[in-house]
Amino acid sequence: MTPGDRFRAIVDQHMCTSCGLCASLMGPHKIGMVVSDHKELRPCVVGTLTNNDFAQVERICPGLRVEGPELQITPVNGEKTDLVWGPYLGMVHAYAGNPLHRWEGSTGGVLTALAAMLLKSGKVAFVLHVKASDSNPTFGVSTMSFTEADVLQAAGSRYGPTAPLSSLAQALEMDQPFAFIGRPCDVSAIGNLAEYDKRVGRLIVFRLAFVCGGPTPSLDIDRMIVRAGVDPEQVVAMRYRGRGCPGPTTIITADGKTVNKRYTDFLNTDGKTWPMHFRCKICPDGIGEGADIAVSDTWPGGAPSPTIEDDDPGTNALIIRTPEGLELVQDAEAAGFLTLGNDIGPEDLDLYQPHQRDKKYAAWARINGLRCAGKLFPRTKRLRLRGLASRMPCEFNAEQSRGAKARSQDLVPERVHQSNAKAPILTAPG
Ligand SMILES: Cc1cc2nc3c(=O)[nH]c(=O)nc-3n(C[C@H](O)[C@H](O)[C@H](O)COP(=O)(O)OP(=O)(O)OC[C@H]3O[C@@H](n4cnc5c(N)ncnc54)[C@H](O)[C@@H]3O)c2cc1C
Ligand code: SF4
Ligand code: SF4
Repeated sequence: MTPGDRFRAIVDQHMCTSCGLCASLMGPHKIGMVVSDHKELRPCVVGTLTNNDFAQVERICPGLRVEGPELQITPVNGEKTDLVWGPYLGMVHAYAGNPLHRWEGSTGGVLTALAAMLLKSGKVAFVLHVKASDSNPTFGVSTMSFTEADVLQAAGSRYGPTAPLSSLAQALEMDQPFAFIGRPCDVSAIGNLAEYDKRVGRLIVFRLAFVCGGPTPSLDIDRMIVRAGVDPEQVVAMRYRGRGCPGPTTIITADGKTVNKRYTDFLNTDGKTWPMHFRCKICPDGIGEGADIAVSDTWPGGAPSPTIEDDDPGTNALIIRTPEGLELVQDAEAAGFLTLGNDIGPEDLDLYQPHQRDKKYAAWARINGLRCAGKLFPRTKRLRLRGLASRMPCEFNAEQSRGAKARSQDLVPERVHQSNAKAPILTAPG
């Protein structure tokens, strides 16, 4: 197999998380992010990949490599480790102190508030995160925020295709300290890159993640839009949540119509499980183990009840993992950017995130199923997966492995076409 073939296998075997880092590092003359036939953002080889290029991709790609942090904190300064939730210094309820941040944010606006504070304090020159794409309205696009107004424009979860690290090379070239906000797998990719690009440790001074169950497959989003009575081709803007918690899903059409759906009605899965990418089903870290702080929702059972109040302002749960994260939370509270609630513990996260807990217990067996099938799989370290699996009955592990193996053999390879590489899906940062 050529290096290009080996690279294409990552997408074909559904291991790509669409982070965009390979494209950012290799440059558009080698790898472009394109829209696949599944209407996802995927990397496509447009030039010739060398063996060295592919070796670099293998090292950084979070689809293939996910590692927990080296032990950074000692029990002396309060570190605890939970088998499911990983190392942490504290867990706490919180929401943004500024009502606008809280309102615009997806849950309680904590990530928006932290980004705004980091910019105001001058601790970072910009924040690298994601905002709505202008050219593909259901998608997200990597962006750099330099002001509070930029940050507010990017508030809210984007469930459609997004490549949060597609501007990382540009961001590093700016040679200024910055914060990154994104999915746990994006944070893993940054950790992978940090091993051989020393600028990463020096310049990315905060890594903030949200707890992540995975984006919604793009074709399923289109089906939801159709169910909301809108032709997906007519959508010019889309906001998934925020403006309350979860807030409405808002679709704006080319003829100026605004359709607001309750979030629970928009996502309505008719009793079936939420649609999810295959890679996310085997995700070994959806809880941001490599982040300074991981931020989540606080709905008991993991999803808002259909009768949730429309005007709930939202409260986040925070897993504070590093001393830097702890100091940031303390500073943010002192400066009024965050309002802290009561301390919580792993049992609260089990209540809010049963899907994350269950996936963590199943991850080792599922990944093993891929290994047995001879497929690509994420190589993991320091995520306690074997220890978690050892707590489960043998029949459970066997069933999870068998299921993952069978699913992996049924997957239809996604097709990416070089001609789509010019699709205007990545905007310049700013
Ligand atoms: C795909 C997806 C799956 C999620 N799954 C879960 C889950 O299983 N459990 C749970 O508790 N919470 C989940 N969340 C997180 C939850 O929706 C909130 O984002 C989180 O609680 C933070 O709330 P906040 O009010 O602080 O966010 P905000 O203040 O609104 O800030 C959100 C930040 O995230 C960035 N962002 C938004 N979408 C993306 C994206 N797709 N990729 C990278 N960065 C993005 C924005 O740029 C912004 O900086 C998920 C979010 C997403 C996007
Ligand atoms: S996960 Fe990221 S680095 Fe890996 S192939 Fe996909 S876009 Fe490239
Ligand atoms: S579920 Fe895991 S693999 Fe999927 S997007 Fe979230 S962090 Fe990445």
